[in-house]
Amino acid sequence: MAASRIVIENCAIATVDAHDTEYASGHVVVADTLIESVGAGGAPAGLENVVRRIDGTGHLVTPGLVNTHHHFYQWITRGLATDHHLFDWLVALYPTWARVDEPMVRAAAAGSLAMMARGGVTTAMDHHYVYPRGAGDLSGAIIGEAARTGLRFTLARGSMDRGESDGGLPPDFAVETLEGALAATEETIDTHHDASPDAMTQIAVAPCSPFSVSTELMRQGAELARRKGVRLHTHGSETAEEERFCEEVFGMGPTDYFESTGWLGPDVWMAHCVHMNDSDIAAFSRTGTGVAHCPSSNARLAAGIARVPDLLAAGVPVGLGVDGTASNESGELHTELRNALLVNRLGTHRERALTTRQALRLGTYGGARVLGRADRIGSLEAGKLADLVLWRLDTLAHSSIADPVAALVLGAPAPVTLSLVHGRTVVEDGRLTMVDEDAVAGAARDEARRLARVATRPGDVTA
Ligand SMILES: [Zn+2]
Repeated sequence: MAASRIVIENCAIATVDAHDTEYASGHVVVADTLIESVGAGGAPAGLENVVRRIDGTGHLVTPGLVNTHHHFYQWITRGLATDHHLFDWLVALYPTWARVDEPMVRAAAAGSLAMMARGGVTTAMDHHYVYPRGAGDLSGAIIGEAARTGLRFTLARGSMDRGESDGGLPPDFAVETLEGALAATEETIDTHHDASPDAMTQIAVAPCSPFSVSTELMRQGAELARRKGVRLHTHGSETAEEERFCEEVFGMGPTDYFESTGWLGPDVWMAHCVHMNDSDIAAFSRTGTGVAHCPSSNARLAAGIARVPDLLAAGVPVGLGVDGTASNESGELHTELRNALLVNRLGTHRERALTTRQALRLGTYGGARVLGRADRIGSLEAGKLADLVLWRLDTLAHSSIADPVAALVLGAPAPVTLSLVHGRTVVEDGRLTMVDEDAVAGAARDEARRLARVATRPGDVTA
């Protein structure tokens, strides 16, 4: 017997189930933390314990958006190195990033999470890989902010141990030791990972990238993840420069390198995957390796266009990611639905690259699949967790667009009237319900200024 029910009626519904079932006018009933029913017309009669009944006229309901790649700390280093490609951009920013401390990371996480939530994200993730010595409990701070904002969350506990003196890209003072990184990652899993299917917090093992991580950390990281039963995440095949780095240092391309270190498999998802040939795509398909597609960041850093239509045709799980906000200042995922569709239509498949429904699927079910959670989130179906968004489509921006899914994907960013996570309201009429948005904005500005001051001070590098 449900303790409380929320009923939403008279709205268009895109369920993103296996058949892409849609209703021009339908209902969703939420009972406690779960979706109880979805269907055409009004809600079933005689429901008890209805605490809220919402008239969704002029709205579209979809599953909540799932973000599969982000770096929260970059919220306080936005708008820098704006005309660089990836490697130059990294080299320009590493010295600043290496100065982050716990209050900075906490304020940046709060900002990133608030922006995610406001844009209809119900499951967020953070790939955090900068852990300067003595900086405090950064993972704990990030996880705490996710809980405070009310979003479902995966922390991909990152790491770097290949500094400049080992032929890597980051400066030596920005990296951890192999042993230190592995021990801290294991401790984060033991402290925070919830293996239950309804979990609000999960941890993944996430060494940063081939050019900032030793082969041994890749290998032992994969072993650690499998021993603990958690997922694996990293950056891969992002740029032509990375491809050259792998050929020169490892004598093979990125995908072969990942395979040789245990980094292809159904428990792995990788950000970007732009520079993939047919045999790379076949390897991802064969092993069930997932992809976080980040179209805005790839464009901002001139990385190229990921072969999403080919990945989908090969059955590769693909979700969307904003990537860090130092390479995608907007920090919004609902605009990535549009950008994924537009960017891929500029590629070789042209107008047949992606449909509006496929774009919505990438941002919802696709993301859930990539995070290994598609059995519980990512579509609106009875028995799944109540993570959903009510998008307002009856104002100037959208009221004359015929098809609600086209309005959401191709139109201006749609306002969020209501967002539920685990049955709880996290956004109401465009405002966050759990945190004070203005306080989050103020703290982020203050910490961004403090980081800029600390980073330009000569000497006393964090070591
Ligand atoms: Zn990234």
